[in-house]
Amino acid sequence: MPNGKTHVKINITLLLGILLSLHTNFMKSYIPAEYTEFDTIAIFSFALIFGTYYLSPDLDIKSEPFKRWGILKYIWWPYQKIFKHRGKLHHPLSGPIIIISTVGLFIIVPVVKLFNLDITNIPTKYLISLLTGIVISIEAHILTDVIYTKVKRKSTKLKKKLKNICTLKS
Ligand SMILES: [Zn+2]
Repeated sequence: MPNGKTHVKINITLLLGILLSLHTNFMKSYIPAEYTEFDTIAIFSFALIFGTYYLSPDLDIKSEPFKRWGILKYIWWPYQKIFKHRGKLHHPLSGPIIIISTVGLFIIVPVVKLFNLDITNIPTKYLISLLTGIVISIEAHILTDVIYTKVKRKSTKLKKKLKNICTLKS
């Protein structure tokens, strides 16, 4: 599988691609104007980067994203025990759902309760931008893993074939 640094590079490149594409008429016609303003784009970009560094599906192993959580890393530890690597957290649907709800339950809810924060005033467009950024970071990771494995399998097959041809000839 690709290492953590590869995932970071790919996700950042993807983010830059998305930001550039927002200037095209095609994207402008599909994305509501309120989502192409500075504040929503800033939240979306932050979420995609934060997701890449902290909310990676590789939390199912002792990966760099797992270690970045410091003392809080133990909220992810049960998943390393119940799921196999590249199992549920690497599934395009259950992956983001499990990762986002874990942060909600073990980080956001306690913080909101502790500081008595009123989060009902947060505009929906901010929440959607935040969630979209996080979900894209997770999906990009999953897709990268799938493509990487396929390419690797093909190249191993090809190498084997070449090896066979060489041994036949000699
Ligand atoms: Zn992975």
